Amino acid sequence: MSRYWSAVVHGLTPYVPGEQPRLPNLVKLNTNENPYGPSPRALEALLGEVGENLRLYPDPSADRLKQAIAACYEVTPQQVFVGNGSDEVLAHTFQALLKHDKPLLFPDISYSFYPVYCGLYGIEYQTVALSDRFEIRVDDYPRPNGGIIFPNPNAPTGISLPLTEIERLLELNPDSVVVVDEAYVDFGAESAVPLVNRYPQLLVIHTLSKSRSLAGLRVGYAIGHPDLIDALNRVKDSFNSYPLDRCAIAAAAAAIEDRAYFESTCARVIATRASLVKELEALGLQVLPSAANFVFARHAQRDGAELTAKLRERSIIVRHFKNPARIAPFMRITVGTEEQCDALVSALKEILVVSV
Ligand code: PMP
Repeated sequence: MSRYWSAVVHGLTPYVPGEQPRLPNLVKLNTNENPYGPSPRALEALLGEVGENLRLYPDPSADRLKQAIAACYEVTPQQVFVGNGSDEVLAHTFQALLKHDKPLLFPDISYSFYPVYCGLYGIEYQTVALSDRFEIRVDDYPRPNGGIIFPNPNAPTGISLPLTEIERLLELNPDSVVVVDEAYVDFGAESAVPLVNRYPQLLVIHTLSKSRSLAGLRVGYAIGHPDLIDALNRVKDSFNSYPLDRCAIAAAAAAIEDRAYFESTCARVIATRASLVKELEALGLQVLPSAANFVFARHAQRDGAELTAKLRERSIIVRHFKNPARIAPFMRITVGTEEQCDALVSALKEILVVSV
């Protein structure tokens, strides 16, 4: 009944999230979830909130969680913003900090939600091409811009940008907000958080969905100068005072505090990634160097869409992106448990041998 729609809705091109099928025995390697469960301490904290108290609203500023994050990253709570998943933190960032007269810049191959937020908030943007090796070239960014955003490691390539290059980008762009979306940073890239005290234009965004195994809880956060955080709070408090519920605040704080569990599960994913890359290369696939909990891989002769479809027939789901054409040959494969990765490799062996 589109005649009832607000005008802006007609022009939206919404983001399409990876599917969440409820099939039994599925090897689900399509949305970069952590194959290991959340910290037992997080689950305990969550259950501790389930009761009579749910009749009361949660703390609108989620101070308990901000304190845990501040302690973990050695910043002040005034440098922390929290939201309902990093997607919400990103949305507020686009609206609060990235809408200016000059265009926002981001890589031509990166998180496909960025252009969607630009559409929603009417933000002009330009994409900057990655190199032939799918790397971000910092020297391509000093051009008139109203802000810069990129994931590090980049998605869906998995390739990371060294901290020295991020610092160079900040030096070259003192007048623009630079947002580093570190959704996957804990799996092997260098975080830019230590730079926030020196660069007031830097905002670093994290999620608990990947390295803290809490995609279902929906918690993300941003770290940056208190002025940037103020802007985010102004938008948040004009949108939803209580983006995080009581269970989310308690469980997320406990997950952040359980550093030992976090480090051991990240190490397991990193170890499995190394063996998965070897096996994929042995099958003749080219795998981009990944610092994330997924790999981006292609076969020289076989199409990414076709391989994805054949894997699916064997109940293994990975993610394929049709656009831009340069990445159509690739599959993005989440690093699962060792058993899941073995299942993937066996299936690929079968697919590649049978039809050669
Ligand atoms: N940034 C990037 C680069 C991502 O891939 C994702 C996951 N789709 C997100 C942010 C959002 O994650 P979440 O909303 O679960 O925190």
